[in-house]
Amino acid sequence: VTARITHASPAAAYAHSPERLWEGYDSVNFGANEAAQGCTDIARQLVSRSPPIDLLLGGGRKFFYPKTKADDENPSLNGVRTDNISLIDDLWKGRYIWNKTELKKIVLGSPEPLLGLFSYDHMRFETDRIRNPKEEPSLSEMTSFAVEHLLMKTQDKYGFFLFVEGSRIDHGHHYTKARYALDEYVEFDNTIGEVKRILKDKGVLDDTLLVVTADHSHMFSFGAGSARGSNIFGFATLENANVSDIDKMPVNIIAYGNGPNFPATRNRTYLDSIDFNSTEYRQPAALPLIEETHGGEDVAVFAHGPWSHLFTGTMEQHTIAHKMAYAACWDDEIKTEIIKGNGIHVLIVCAFQLQFHVETVQQSSLEILQAVSFETEAASIIKEQEKFIQLLNDIVLANVFPQRIPADGILFNLAEHQATMIKDQTKASWVHKRML
Ligand SMILES: [Zn+2]
Repeated sequence: VTARITHASPAAAYAHSPERLWEGYDSVNFGANEAAQGCTDIARQLVSRSPPIDLLLGGGRKFFYPKTKADDENPSLNGVRTDNISLIDDLWKGRYIWNKTELKKIVLGSPEPLLGLFSYDHMRFETDRIRNPKEEPSLSEMTSFAVEHLLMKTQDKYGFFLFVEGSRIDHGHHYTKARYALDEYVEFDNTIGEVKRILKDKGVLDDTLLVVTADHSHMFSFGAGSARGSNIFGFATLENANVSDIDKMPVNIIAYGNGPNFPATRNRTYLDSIDFNSTEYRQPAALPLIEETHGGEDVAVFAHGPWSHLFTGTMEQHTIAHKMAYAACWDDEIKTEIIKGNGIHVLIVCAFQLQFHVETVQQSSLEILQAVSFETEAASIIKEQEKFIQLLNDIVLANVFPQRIPADGILFNLAEHQATMIKDQTKASWVHKRML
Protein backbone atom coordinates (compact mmCIF):
# COMPACT_ATOMS: atom_id res chain seq x y z
CA VAL A 1 0.00 0.00 0.00
CA THR A 2 1.09 3.61 -0.45
CA ALA A 3 -0.61 4.88 2.73
CA ARG A 4 0.75 4.38 6.25
CA ILE A 5 0.45 0.64 6.72
CA THR A 6 -1.63 1.33 9.84
CA HIS A 7 -4.10 3.46 7.86
CA ALA A 8 -7.78 2.66 7.31
CA SER A 9 -7.99 -0.12 4.68
CA PRO A 10 -4.66 -1.91 5.28
CA ALA A 11 -5.34 -1.92 9.04
CA ALA A 12 -8.68 -3.62 8.42
CA ALA A 13 -6.76 -6.50 6.82
CA TYR A 14 -4.97 -7.46 10.05
CA ALA A 15 -6.16 -5.45 13.11
CA HIS A 16 -9.26 -5.15 15.24
CA SER A 17 -9.88 -1.62 16.47
CA PRO A 18 -12.99 0.38 17.33
CA GLU A 19 -11.19 3.58 16.24
CA ARG A 20 -9.24 4.09 13.00
CA LEU A 21 -7.10 6.82 14.59
CA TRP A 22 -5.54 4.38 17.07
CA GLU A 23 -2.66 3.82 14.63
CA GLY A 24 0.06 4.07 17.28
CA TYR A 25 0.60 4.75 20.98
CA ASP A 26 1.13 8.49 20.50
CA SER A 27 -0.76 9.77 23.59
CA VAL A 28 -2.83 11.88 21.20
CA ASN A 29 -5.37 9.46 19.78
CA PHE A 30 -4.23 6.38 21.71
CA GLY A 31 -2.62 6.47 25.14
CA ALA A 32 -2.62 5.19 28.70
CA ASN A 33 -6.41 5.40 29.01
CA GLU A 34 -7.03 3.13 26.01
CA ALA A 35 -4.22 0.75 27.00
CA ALA A 36 -5.62 0.51 30.56
CA GLN A 37 -8.92 -0.68 29.08
CA GLY A 38 -7.15 -3.55 27.38
CA CYS A 39 -6.84 -2.08 23.89
CA THR A 40 -3.77 -2.36 21.66
CA ASP A 41 -2.78 0.23 19.05
CA ILE A 42 -2.90 -0.85 15.41
CA ALA A 43 0.88 -0.79 14.74
CA ARG A 44 1.49 -2.98 17.76
CA GLN A 45 -1.23 -5.41 16.64
CA LEU A 46 0.57 -5.64 13.30
CA VAL A 47 3.96 -6.64 14.75
CA SER A 48 2.44 -8.87 17.46
CA ARG A 49 0.59 -11.22 15.14
CA SER A 50 1.64 -14.82 15.51
CA PRO A 51 2.70 -16.22 13.14
CA PRO A 52 3.83 -12.93 11.59
CA ILE A 53 2.28 -11.76 8.31
CA ASP A 54 4.56 -12.96 5.49
CA LEU A 55 4.96 -9.64 3.71
CA LEU A 56 4.04 -6.02 4.47
CA LEU A 57 5.10 -3.09 2.29
CA GLY A 58 3.95 0.50 2.70
CA GLY A 59 4.54 3.75 4.58
CA GLY A 60 4.14 5.04 8.13
CA ARG A 61 7.35 4.39 10.09
CA LYS A 62 6.45 7.03 12.68
CA PHE A 63 3.99 4.79 14.56
CA PHE A 64 6.62 2.05 14.92
CA TYR A 65 9.35 4.03 16.68
CA PRO A 66 9.51 5.81 20.07
CA LYS A 67 9.72 9.58 20.35
CA THR A 68 13.35 9.17 21.40
CA LYS A 69 14.44 7.56 18.11
CA ALA A 70 15.27 9.49 14.93
CA ASP A 71 13.67 8.33 11.68
CA ASP A 72 15.71 5.98 9.44
CA GLU A 73 15.66 8.34 6.46
CA ASN A 74 15.06 11.80 7.97
CA PRO A 75 17.08 12.21 11.20
CA SER A 76 15.29 15.50 11.85
CA LEU A 77 12.07 13.56 12.45
CA ASN A 78 11.43 11.29 15.42
CA GLY A 79 9.05 8.41 16.03
CA VAL A 80 5.77 9.31 17.76
CA ARG A 81 5.34 6.45 20.24
CA THR A 82 5.22 7.57 23.85
CA ASP A 83 5.31 4.05 25.32
CA ASN A 84 9.07 3.93 24.68
CA ILE A 85 8.79 0.76 22.63
CA SER A 86 10.45 0.32 19.26
CA LEU A 87 8.07 -2.09 17.56
CA ILE A 88 10.72 -2.83 14.91
CA ASP A 89 13.57 -3.59 17.33
CA ASP A 90 11.62 -5.04 20.26
CA LEU A 91 8.64 -6.91 18.81
CA TRP A 92 8.80 -7.56 15.04
CA LYS A 93 9.86 -11.17 14.40
CA GLY A 94 11.08 -10.84 10.85
CA ARG A 95 13.30 -8.78 8.58
CA TYR A 96 12.79 -5.02 8.40
CA ILE A 97 13.79 -2.72 5.52
CA TRP A 98 13.06 0.94 4.78
CA ASN A 99 14.37 1.65 1.26
CA LYS A 100 14.27 0.42 -2.32
CA THR A 101 17.96 -0.60 -2.39
CA GLU A 102 17.30 -3.10 0.40
CA LEU A 103 14.10 -4.29 -1.25
CA LYS A 104 16.05 -5.14 -4.40
CA LYS A 105 18.49 -7.24 -2.35
CA ILE A 106 15.79 -9.47 -0.86
CA VAL A 107 16.08 -13.02 -2.20
CA LEU A 108 12.72 -13.83 -3.80
CA GLY A 109 10.94 -16.55 -1.87
CA SER A 110 13.15 -16.23 1.22
CA PRO A 111 11.27 -17.66 4.20
CA GLU A 112 11.73 -14.80 6.68
CA PRO A 113 8.70 -12.49 7.14
CA LEU A 114 9.41 -9.07 5.64
CA LEU A 115 8.24 -5.63 6.78
CA GLY A 116 9.17 -2.73 4.47
CA LEU A 117 8.26 0.79 5.58
CA PHE A 118 9.39 3.19 2.88
CA SER A 119 8.20 6.48 4.30
CA TYR A 120 7.93 8.29 7.63
CA ASP A 121 4.23 9.01 6.94
CA HIS A 122 2.17 8.19 3.83
CA MET A 123 4.34 7.49 0.79
CA ARG A 124 4.54 10.36 -1.70
CA PHE A 125 2.06 10.88 -4.52
CA GLU A 126 3.24 9.08 -7.67
CA THR A 127 3.30 12.43 -9.52
CA ASP A 128 5.95 13.68 -7.05
CA ARG A 129 7.76 10.35 -6.61
CA ILE A 130 8.37 9.85 -10.32
CA ARG A 131 10.10 13.27 -10.57
CA ASN A 132 12.59 12.22 -7.89
CA PRO A 133 12.12 8.58 -6.86
CA LYS A 134 14.91 8.57 -4.23
CA GLU A 135 14.56 5.37 -2.18
CA GLU A 136 10.80 5.00 -2.53
CA PRO A 137 9.40 2.15 -4.67
CA SER A 138 6.19 2.73 -6.66
CA LEU A 139 2.98 0.79 -6.05
CA SER A 140 3.65 -1.35 -9.14
CA GLU A 141 7.23 -2.06 -8.01
CA MET A 142 6.09 -3.13 -4.53
CA THR A 143 3.29 -5.25 -5.99
CA SER A 144 5.47 -6.95 -8.59
CA PHE A 145 7.96 -7.81 -5.87
CA ALA A 146 5.14 -9.13 -3.67
CA VAL A 147 3.64 -11.37 -6.35
CA GLU A 148 6.99 -12.83 -7.44
CA HIS A 149 8.15 -13.27 -3.83
CA LEU A 150 4.94 -14.99 -2.72
CA LEU A 151 4.81 -17.21 -5.81
CA MET A 152 8.35 -18.40 -5.00
CA LYS A 153 7.60 -18.70 -1.32
CA THR A 154 4.51 -20.85 -1.83
CA GLN A 155 6.18 -22.60 -4.79
CA ASP A 156 2.87 -22.38 -6.62
CA LYS A 157 1.51 -25.09 -4.31
CA TYR A 158 -0.54 -23.39 -1.65
CA GLY A 159 -1.39 -20.04 -3.16
CA PHE A 160 -1.61 -16.80 -1.23
CA PHE A 161 -3.84 -13.85 -0.44
CA LEU A 162 -2.44 -10.42 -1.32
CA PHE A 163 -4.12 -7.11 -0.51
CA VAL A 164 -2.94 -4.15 -2.63
CA GLU A 165 -4.24 -0.61 -2.23
CA GLY A 166 -3.59 2.43 -4.42
CA SER A 167 -4.16 4.31 -1.20
CA ARG A 168 -3.55 7.84 -2.35
CA ILE A 169 -6.14 8.06 -5.13
CA ASP A 170 -8.43 8.94 -2.23
CA HIS A 171 -6.11 11.63 -0.84
CA GLY A 172 -5.74 13.37 -4.22
CA HIS A 173 -9.53 13.63 -4.42
CA HIS A 174 -9.88 14.91 -0.84
CA TYR A 175 -7.58 17.78 -1.83
CA THR A 176 -9.60 18.19 -5.08
CA LYS A 177 -6.25 17.91 -6.85
CA ALA A 178 -7.44 15.72 -9.70
CA ARG A 179 -3.93 15.65 -11.17
CA TYR A 180 -2.68 13.73 -8.14
CA ALA A 181 -5.75 11.47 -7.99
CA LEU A 182 -5.68 10.49 -11.66
CA ASP A 183 -1.90 9.95 -11.76
CA GLU A 184 -2.37 7.65 -8.75
CA TYR A 185 -5.13 5.88 -10.64
CA VAL A 186 -2.90 5.38 -13.69
CA GLU A 187 -0.26 3.80 -11.43
CA PHE A 188 -2.94 1.57 -9.87
CA ASP A 189 -3.96 0.50 -13.38
CA ASN A 190 -0.29 -0.17 -14.26
CA THR A 191 -0.10 -2.33 -11.14
CA ILE A 192 -3.04 -4.49 -12.20
CA GLY A 193 -1.45 -4.91 -15.63
CA GLU A 194 1.92 -5.88 -14.10
CA VAL A 195 0.27 -8.46 -11.82
CA LYS A 196 -1.55 -10.05 -14.74
CA ARG A 197 1.66 -10.10 -16.80
CA ILE A 198 3.64 -11.84 -14.02
CA LEU A 199 0.89 -14.39 -13.34
CA LYS A 200 0.64 -15.13 -17.06
CA ASP A 201 4.42 -15.56 -17.34
CA LYS A 202 4.34 -18.04 -14.45
CA GLY A 203 1.40 -19.88 -15.99
CA VAL A 204 -0.95 -19.24 -13.06
CA LEU A 205 -3.12 -16.39 -14.34
CA ASP A 206 -6.10 -18.69 -14.91
CA ASP A 207 -5.72 -20.14 -11.41
CA THR A 208 -5.77 -16.73 -9.74
CA LEU A 209 -8.81 -14.76 -8.69
CA LEU A 210 -8.18 -11.03 -9.10
CA VAL A 211 -10.77 -8.72 -7.55
CA VAL A 212 -10.47 -4.97 -8.07
CA THR A 213 -12.76 -2.54 -6.31
CA ALA A 214 -12.91 0.58 -4.13
CA ASP A 215 -14.18 1.07 -0.59
CA HIS A 216 -16.14 4.15 -1.69
CA SER A 217 -16.31 6.79 -4.39
CA HIS A 218 -15.77 10.57 -4.26
CA MET A 219 -17.75 13.73 -5.04
CA PHE A 220 -15.77 13.75 -8.29
CA SER A 221 -17.42 14.33 -11.67
CA PHE A 222 -16.30 14.89 -15.24
CA GLY A 223 -18.04 15.52 -18.53
CA ALA A 224 -19.31 18.80 -19.95
CA GLY A 225 -19.41 17.64 -23.57
CA SER A 226 -15.64 17.56 -24.02
CA ALA A 227 -14.14 16.74 -27.39
CA ARG A 228 -11.80 13.79 -27.82
CA GLY A 229 -8.21 14.72 -27.07
CA SER A 230 -9.16 17.44 -24.55
CA ASN A 231 -6.93 17.78 -21.51
CA ILE A 232 -9.20 16.31 -18.83
CA PHE A 233 -7.74 18.71 -16.24
CA GLY A 234 -8.72 21.73 -18.36
CA PHE A 235 -11.79 23.31 -19.97
CA ALA A 236 -14.55 21.55 -21.87
CA THR A 237 -15.31 22.27 -25.51
CA LEU A 238 -19.05 22.17 -24.69
CA GLU A 239 -20.07 20.80 -28.10
CA ASN A 240 -17.96 23.55 -29.76
CA ALA A 241 -19.61 26.35 -27.74
CA ASN A 242 -16.41 26.56 -25.64
CA VAL A 243 -17.99 28.85 -23.04
CA SER A 244 -20.89 28.62 -20.61
CA ASP A 245 -24.26 29.77 -21.95
CA ILE A 246 -24.81 31.57 -18.65
CA ASP A 247 -21.67 33.59 -17.89
CA LYS A 248 -19.81 33.17 -21.19
CA MET A 249 -16.75 31.82 -19.35
CA PRO A 250 -14.98 28.49 -19.94
CA VAL A 251 -16.20 25.49 -17.93
CA ASN A 252 -13.96 22.86 -16.30
CA ILE A 253 -14.31 19.23 -17.41
CA ILE A 254 -13.68 18.09 -13.83
CA ALA A 255 -15.62 19.50 -10.89
CA TYR A 256 -16.22 18.33 -7.34
CA GLY A 257 -19.52 18.34 -5.45
CA ASN A 258 -17.75 19.87 -2.48
CA GLY A 259 -14.25 21.06 -1.66
CA PRO A 260 -12.04 24.06 -0.92
CA ASN A 261 -12.10 25.82 -4.33
CA PHE A 262 -15.38 27.59 -3.59
CA PRO A 263 -16.57 29.88 -4.95
CA ALA A 264 -14.25 29.24 -7.88
CA THR A 265 -13.05 32.53 -9.36
CA ARG A 266 -14.61 33.18 -12.76
CA ASN A 267 -12.90 36.00 -14.60
CA ARG A 268 -11.19 35.58 -17.93
CA THR A 269 -7.72 36.72 -16.88
CA TYR A 270 -7.59 34.25 -14.01
CA LEU A 271 -9.13 31.37 -16.00
CA ASP A 272 -6.63 31.90 -18.84
CA SER A 273 -3.73 31.86 -16.39
CA ILE A 274 -4.44 28.44 -14.82
CA ASP A 275 -1.76 25.75 -15.19
CA PHE A 276 -4.05 22.73 -15.32
CA ASN A 277 -1.26 20.17 -15.15
CA SER A 278 0.11 21.61 -11.92
CA THR A 279 -0.31 19.57 -8.76
CA GLU A 280 -1.21 22.82 -7.01
CA TYR A 281 -4.43 23.38 -8.97
CA ARG A 282 -7.65 22.43 -7.22
CA GLN A 283 -10.72 21.87 -9.40
CA PRO A 284 -13.85 23.95 -8.63
CA ALA A 285 -16.38 22.74 -6.05
CA ALA A 286 -20.15 23.31 -5.89
CA LEU A 287 -20.22 23.57 -2.09
CA PRO A 288 -17.54 24.78 0.36
CA LEU A 289 -15.53 22.34 2.51
CA ILE A 290 -11.83 22.37 3.45
CA GLU A 291 -11.57 18.72 2.39
CA GLU A 292 -13.74 17.11 -0.26
CA THR A 293 -15.80 14.15 0.99
CA HIS A 294 -16.37 10.58 -0.14
CA GLY A 295 -19.30 9.91 -2.46
CA GLY A 296 -22.32 7.76 -1.69
CA GLU A 297 -22.99 5.91 -4.93
CA ASP A 298 -22.22 2.25 -5.62
CA VAL A 299 -18.68 1.43 -6.75
CA ALA A 300 -17.65 -1.04 -9.43
CA VAL A 301 -16.26 -4.51 -8.67
CA PHE A 302 -14.13 -6.13 -11.38
CA ALA A 303 -13.08 -9.75 -11.16
CA HIS A 304 -11.01 -12.14 -13.25
CA GLY A 305 -10.23 -15.82 -12.77
CA PRO A 306 -11.84 -18.76 -10.97
CA TRP A 307 -15.30 -17.96 -9.54
CA SER A 308 -15.14 -14.43 -10.98
CA HIS A 309 -18.70 -15.00 -12.24
CA LEU A 310 -19.86 -14.61 -8.63
CA PHE A 311 -18.96 -10.92 -8.82
CA THR A 312 -21.73 -9.85 -11.17
CA GLY A 313 -24.76 -7.65 -10.65
CA THR A 314 -25.48 -5.50 -7.63
CA MET A 315 -24.18 -6.88 -4.35
CA GLU A 316 -23.92 -5.92 -0.71
CA GLN A 317 -20.33 -5.01 0.10
CA HIS A 318 -19.70 -7.68 2.75
CA THR A 319 -20.44 -10.47 0.30
CA ILE A 320 -17.18 -9.68 -1.54
CA ALA A 321 -15.01 -11.16 1.22
CA HIS A 322 -17.24 -14.22 1.50
CA LYS A 323 -17.08 -14.82 -2.25
CA MET A 324 -13.28 -14.55 -2.19
CA ALA A 325 -13.12 -16.99 0.75
CA TYR A 326 -15.44 -19.37 -1.09
CA ALA A 327 -13.31 -19.21 -4.26
CA ALA A 328 -10.23 -19.96 -2.15
CA CYS A 329 -12.03 -23.00 -0.58
CA TRP A 330 -11.67 -21.42 2.87
CA ASP A 331 -15.35 -21.94 3.53
CA ASP A 332 -14.95 -25.54 4.72
CA GLU A 333 -11.77 -24.72 6.61
CA ILE A 334 -13.59 -22.08 8.62
CA LYS A 335 -16.33 -24.59 9.52
CA THR A 336 -13.68 -27.07 10.65
CA GLU A 337 -11.99 -24.38 12.75
CA ILE A 338 -15.28 -23.54 14.47
CA ILE A 339 -16.02 -27.17 15.29
CA LYS A 340 -12.49 -28.02 16.49
CA GLY A 341 -11.98 -24.75 18.34
CA ASN A 342 -14.99 -25.20 20.66
CA GLY A 343 -16.72 -22.46 18.66
CA ILE A 344 -20.11 -24.17 18.77
CA HIS A 345 -20.40 -23.77 22.55
CA VAL A 346 -19.38 -20.12 22.30
CA LEU A 347 -21.96 -19.50 19.58
CA ILE A 348 -24.68 -21.23 21.61
CA VAL A 349 -23.86 -18.98 24.59
CA CYS A 350 -24.08 -15.98 22.24
CA ALA A 351 -27.49 -17.14 21.01
CA PHE A 352 -28.83 -16.81 24.58
CA GLN A 353 -27.44 -13.30 25.12
CA LEU A 354 -30.62 -11.35 24.54
CA GLN A 355 -29.36 -8.28 26.38
CA PHE A 356 -27.30 -7.42 23.29
CA HIS A 357 -28.64 -6.26 19.97
CA VAL A 358 -30.59 -9.32 18.87
CA GLU A 359 -29.88 -9.10 15.17
CA THR A 360 -26.13 -8.75 15.57
CA VAL A 361 -25.58 -11.32 18.31
CA GLN A 362 -28.39 -13.87 18.42
CA GLN A 363 -29.18 -13.76 14.72
CA SER A 364 -25.51 -13.96 13.64
CA SER A 365 -24.82 -16.81 16.07
CA LEU A 366 -27.80 -18.77 14.78
CA GLU A 367 -26.77 -18.20 11.16
CA ILE A 368 -23.24 -19.48 11.77
CA LEU A 369 -24.60 -22.45 13.73
CA GLN A 370 -26.93 -23.20 10.84
CA ALA A 371 -23.97 -23.16 8.43
CA VAL A 372 -21.91 -25.59 10.56
CA SER A 373 -24.88 -27.81 11.45
CA PHE A 374 -24.61 -29.42 8.00
CA GLU A 375 -21.54 -31.22 9.38
CA THR A 376 -22.30 -34.46 11.24
CA GLU A 377 -19.79 -33.68 13.97
CA ALA A 378 -21.29 -30.26 14.58
CA ALA A 379 -24.84 -31.62 14.52
CA SER A 380 -24.01 -34.20 17.18
CA ILE A 381 -22.51 -31.49 19.44
CA ILE A 382 -25.53 -29.21 18.99
CA LYS A 383 -28.14 -31.89 19.65
CA GLU A 384 -26.73 -32.51 23.11
CA GLN A 385 -27.48 -28.92 24.10
CA GLU A 386 -31.05 -29.45 25.35
CA LYS A 387 -31.66 -25.87 26.47
CA PHE A 388 -30.48 -24.60 23.10
CA ILE A 389 -32.78 -27.00 21.25
CA GLN A 390 -35.61 -25.76 23.44
CA LEU A 391 -34.68 -22.18 22.53
CA LEU A 392 -34.77 -23.07 18.83
CA ASN A 393 -38.19 -24.69 19.21
CA ASP A 394 -39.49 -21.68 21.13
CA ILE A 395 -38.27 -19.33 18.40
CA VAL A 396 -39.87 -21.44 15.71
CA LEU A 397 -43.18 -21.94 17.53
CA ALA A 398 -43.46 -18.24 18.41
CA ASN A 399 -42.48 -17.40 14.83
CA VAL A 400 -39.86 -14.89 15.99
CA PHE A 401 -38.54 -13.12 12.92
CA PRO A 402 -35.86 -13.19 11.54
CA GLN A 403 -34.34 -15.69 14.00
CA ARG A 404 -36.94 -18.26 12.95
CA ILE A 405 -35.17 -18.81 9.63
CA PRO A 406 -31.80 -20.08 10.94
CA ALA A 407 -33.55 -21.79 13.89
CA ASP A 408 -35.68 -23.74 11.43
CA GLY A 409 -32.57 -24.52 9.42
CA ILE A 410 -30.62 -25.88 12.39
CA LEU A 411 -33.53 -28.07 13.51
CA PHE A 412 -33.95 -29.35 9.97
CA ASN A 413 -30.26 -30.24 9.74
CA LEU A 414 -30.33 -32.00 13.10
CA ALA A 415 -33.35 -33.96 11.97
CA GLU A 416 -31.58 -34.94 8.77
CA HIS A 417 -28.47 -36.09 10.60
CA GLN A 418 -30.38 -37.87 13.34
CA ALA A 419 -33.23 -39.44 11.41
CA THR A 420 -33.32 -42.41 13.74
CA MET A 421 -34.07 -40.24 16.76
CA ILE A 422 -37.06 -38.65 15.02
CA LYS A 423 -38.83 -41.95 15.47
CA ASP A 424 -38.66 -41.59 19.21
CA GLN A 425 -40.12 -38.14 19.63
CA THR A 426 -41.40 -38.60 23.12
CA LYS A 427 -37.98 -39.35 24.64
CA ALA A 428 -35.83 -36.91 22.76
CA SER A 429 -36.36 -33.33 23.78
CA TRP A 430 -34.33 -31.97 20.88
CA VAL A 431 -36.53 -33.38 18.18
CA HIS A 432 -37.68 -31.02 15.50
CA LYS A 433 -41.34 -30.52 16.32
CA ARG A 434 -42.34 -28.90 13.09
CA MET A 435 -42.83 -30.38 9.68
CA LEU A 436 -40.91 -28.45 7.07
ZN1 LIG B 1 -10.91 9.20 2.08
